[in-house]
This record gives sequence, structure tokens and C-alpha cells, in this order.
Amino acid sequence: MINPAELDLLRKALAVLADGFDDLPGFTPDFDVEAAGQILGRVAERMADNYPYFHPLYAGQMLKPPHAIARIAYALSLWINPNNHALDGGRASSAMEKECVVELGRLFGWDRPFGHLAGGGTMANLEALWVAGRLHPGKRVIASSQAHYTHHRICEVLGLPFDHVSAGPDGRMRLDALEAELKSGGVGTVVATIGTTGLGVLDPLPEILELAGRYGTRVHADAAYGGYFGLAGELGPTTRAGYDALGRVDSIVVDPHKHGLQPYGCGCVLFRDPGVGSFYKHDSPYTYFSSAELHLGEISLECSRPGAAAVALWATLQLFPLERGGEFAAMLDRSLLAAQDFSRRLDACESYRPVLEPELDIVVYAVDAGDTEAASRRAREVFAAAAAKDLHLSLIELPAALVCANLSGMTATTPAVTCLRSVLMKPEHADWVERIVSILEDCAG
Ligand SMILES: *Cc1c(COP(=O)(O)O)cnc(C)c1O
Repeated sequence: MINPAELDLLRKALAVLADGFDDLPGFTPDFDVEAAGQILGRVAERMADNYPYFHPLYAGQMLKPPHAIARIAYALSLWINPNNHALDGGRASSAMEKECVVELGRLFGWDRPFGHLAGGGTMANLEALWVAGRLHPGKRVIASSQAHYTHHRICEVLGLPFDHVSAGPDGRMRLDALEAELKSGGVGTVVATIGTTGLGVLDPLPEILELAGRYGTRVHADAAYGGYFGLAGELGPTTRAGYDALGRVDSIVVDPHKHGLQPYGCGCVLFRDPGVGSFYKHDSPYTYFSSAELHLGEISLECSRPGAAAVALWATLQLFPLERGGEFAAMLDRSLLAAQDFSRRLDACESYRPVLEPELDIVVYAVDAGDTEAASRRAREVFAAAAAKDLHLSLIELPAALVCANLSGMTATTPAVTCLRSVLMKPEHADWVERIVSILEDCAG
């Protein structure tokens, strides 16, 4: 689980950091090392009460371990504990954050992106929809019924009207339903999800952009999970077209703490038009004294933010530049291939039926049964039986209509169906698919 090289690297980097301050009079804070050691032993024991997220046999929720370099850089920065609200609180880490934002903007073809890091995708989407509301006060925000549940809630917080657009049996926003909403009027912003959290599919972005353009509506892309996949080589043509269109939206959210190898606390919001910066003006008397240079707090809703998140992301981007054909892109491709391989192998099993062909690295599969009630019961049984064999999956509730439209011979006896879901987001999953399927076969009995 722990590579001792990581601890060596941290110690060496800390020594370099301490050198940077060696002109100050000596000062080393003291504490009760023995008491702290005892408590930390108890902490470690308690932390072992977790699923093994770092292990390939964890094939459940959207949880990806941070890369060692991110973990080390994050830990290193805690000896400074920078605050990226203002340059007074985090000069170096603010500069690093601005460089990260440039790199993330390039991912979508934006040369001068306006944006910053945020606590996560929810905060980043809140900010994007806050700007949506400022630009179109009182107008509606619409998102597919498969969009992340937080969009509705964010709109409640912002006091913006919100409506769902139905998703088709393929899990993607229905274009006829979208056009009907746009025709009925009052829509300010359409949220297109680029990689839905449940099924891992893209809303049809080129068509959404075309319709939104015709009705004068803004488009926000929630690419919290899927944003990085534009770098991958193993995408189907429709998926590729979705990523190729991404640069034409008005704002984008991407979560480095999902697929970007970062510890939690790292989302990012980007706007195509830097003019939205004018919405952030405030006249707090106690910030922004140190210089005329941009303080990130001037363009973000949150005040204090961990500079550590920027430091970790910056270090990671040095090791893994966001390039097509690069090492990071190869990791994403391995996840895509793992999902395709997993889905094919499940399809060949008697007991399992993939609901959709995976578009990214999420596979949703039903346990075969004559009706949805039995399929749901069997999915919960497999979930528990697999966990007893150290294979950790996740469950998803889907509308029975969606599942039965894809799985012939299954009768809808309940409104929803419980299915199994595996997010194969660790590149190592590619080497474990065979073993995972063999455990699943044992579990189906
Ligand atoms: C995860 C996710 C979110 C929420 O992001 P957090 O970082 O968990 O706050 C929003 N949208 C999508 C599509 C997601 O996958």
C-alpha cells in the first residue's frame, strides 16, 4: 500500500523548503511527540475502517487515488499552509494556480481562460450557475434528468428556476425534449453533462450547441468527471465529436480530484469570456492590499481556499502534461479499454447484462432476471457476496423504462431497477478485469 520512496521524497523536499527560510532566527515549534504518536496510532487504526480505494479490487464508486506526486506536494505545502484567497496568504501557490488554470484551459482549446480552482465540482458548478443567473436574471436553468443531482439544489440556493429535460433510453439528454423546453421560452442556460456520474455518457453536445445557438441560450458543460477524456485516443467518433465541441460552450467545470490524480478539494471552473469577472467586484476593506496583481479571491465566490490543492495539481501537471498521446492520456485509454473489456466479458456471462455499452470508463450492469424486482434483489445479493470476497462494487437505481428498453426479456414490475455499477478509473484496472469477472461469476452462483 505504501511505497517507502514517497516518504523519502517528502523528507528531501521538506529539507529544500526549510532551506528557503534559513535566514530567519531559529524557531522550531515543540509538541508532546509521545502523546501525538499514541493518538496517531489510533487514527491509523480507525482509518483502516475504509474500503480499499487504492486497490484494483475496489471497482465501485468514482474514487481514484491521488498520484504519489500529488500526495507528496500537498503534504509538503502544509508546512506553509498557503491560502489562495489572496497573494498575502499564498504568493507562490497563487502563481501555481494561475499556471494550472492555463493548462486546464488548453485542455479545452482556450488560450486565455478565466477561472480558478474550487473546493470541488459542486462549488465550481455553483459558481458557473451564479454567473448564469447574473447574465440572465430570472431565466431558467435546464439539465437532463441524468445530470448531477446538485444542479437542481444549486439553483434552489441561487433562487433560479430549474427544470429537468428527459433523458432517452441511452441515458443522454433528448434533443426533442430540449427543443420543446427552448421553444416554451425563458431558458437562460442549458447544462450539458460531459460524462454523467451514473452511466458515464455524454449529452449530445454538438446538437445542444446548435439548438442553444438558435434560441440564444448559454451552454454550461458539467465535465466534472469526464473533462479529461478529450485527451484519450480510444474514443468512439460520437464521443470524439462531443469533446471537439467542448471549447464552444460558455463555461466548463472539471474536477482534478476525479480523473486528474488529485486529493479531494480540487475542482475547477472556467469561463470563455473573461468579462464575467466584473460580477465578482466587492469592496471588502481588509483584502487585496499587498499588490495590484490579481488576487484569486477577487474572482472567486469562496474566500479562504487551500493553496495545497494548487501545489499538488501543479506538481502533477509537471510530471503528466495534458497532452494527447502523452503518459496521462495513456492512463485514460487504459481505463477506457478496461471498461470495454469488462463489458464484453460480462456480456459473455450468463448472469450479467451490461445496460449500455460503456462510453467512458463506467460500466452499469444488471443481474439477469425475468423482471425488474428480481433483478434488483439479485444485484443487492451480488453486491454483498462480492464484498465478502474483497471485490467492492457500487449500486445504482435506474428508471425501469431505461433498463428494460436496453435489456430485452426483462419485464418492468417496479418503477426503478437496482443495477451494479463499476467505475474502472484506475489504469491498473485493465490488468484486473479477468479476475474481477471471475469473482463476479462465483457470486452469481
Ligand atoms: C462528481 C460530480 C459532480 C460533483 O462534484 P464534487 O466534486 O463531488 O462536488 C458534479 N457533476 C458531475 C457530472 C460529477 O460527476
